[in-house]
Amino acid sequence: MAPLVTLGEPCCCSAAPPASASRITRRALLRRAAAGAACVVAGAAGGWELAQRARHVPTLTEAARLRAQPDAIFRVTTRHRMVALTFDDGPDPTYTPDVLALLARHQARATFFCIGVNALAHRDVLAAAAAAGHQIANHTLDHPNLELLDPLDQTAEIEGGSKAIVDAGSARPDLFRPPMGLTDDVVGVVADTLRYRTVFWDACVEHFVDHMDAQPAVDAIARRVGPGSIILAHDGGHVFAAGSPAIDRSKTMRALPLLLDRLQAEGYALVDVATLLSAAGLRPGPPRRVGDAG
Ligand SMILES: [Zn+2]
Repeated sequence: MAPLVTLGEPCCCSAAPPASASRITRRALLRRAAAGAACVVAGAAGGWELAQRARHVPTLTEAARLRAQPDAIFRVTTRHRMVALTFDDGPDPTYTPDVLALLARHQARATFFCIGVNALAHRDVLAAAAAAGHQIANHTLDHPNLELLDPLDQTAEIEGGSKAIVDAGSARPDLFRPPMGLTDDVVGVVADTLRYRTVFWDACVEHFVDHMDAQPAVDAIARRVGPGSIILAHDGGHVFAAGSPAIDRSKTMRALPLLLDRLQAEGYALVDVATLLSAAGLRPGPPRRVGDAG
C-alpha cells in the first residue's frame, strides 16, 4: 500500500533573501496587530514576499497549523456525539449537486468552504447549498498559498472571497479556511482582524480515499473520528485559474455514501461547523473580542 500523505501541496520556495528582512518586517507587523491597529496590513508589504520565502516552511500537519494559528479550530470538545462535515473548493456543478443530494438523504448539514471565483461562476449551485440550509464559508477568492502573499494580498484574497460569495447571493461568511491548510501566524492575525474564525479539520477524507479503496478508507476515517471532529472532504474539482486541469473527485464521491452511513450507524449527528461550535459552548462566528457587544 502506498504511504499516506497529508493533504496539501508542498511548496517549492527556495529563494534565500537576507534574514534581516524577515526579522524586521515580521515583528513590526505582529506588534502593530497586537496593539489593535485598525489595519493590520498597512505599510507592511515592502519586502514581505522575500521575508516570507526566507522563513517559509509549509504547514502540512496539524501541529504546524496549530503553532501558526493557536486560536483556530481543528475539533471541539463536546459530550454530544456529533461531527461537522465540511466541503472545500466548490461550488462545483460536477460534484456539489451530488453532495447536496447525499446530505439531503441523510438529513445532514454541512459547511461549504467556497472559493470566490467558483461561487461567482456557479451561483445556482451556491444558492442550492444555501437554500438547503447548509453553511457557506470562505476559502479565499481563488485559492492561493496565502502564506506566500504579503498581508495586503492576503487581505484581498480573504475579503475578495467573501465579497464574491455575497455578490453571488449568499450571506457574508464568518468562518474561514486557508487553502490547502497552508498558513502562518500572519494569516491568523489578518483573519482575526477581518473578524473570521479559522477552521481546519482533524480528519481528511482524501487523505484516505486517494490511497486505498473506499471501504477500508471509510473504516480508517471512522477510527480517526470522534465526538467533536471536523471532517474535510472536497466537492470542488477546479481550484486554480481557468484552464487549469480539473481534479478528479470520483474517489471521494464513491466513499461519501459509505462514510455517512457508517457515521450515522455509529450514532453521530452530522452537522455544520456552526452547530458543532454551539454544541461545544463556543461562539459560532468569530471569537469574541474586547469591546464586542452581547
Ligand atoms: Zn481548498
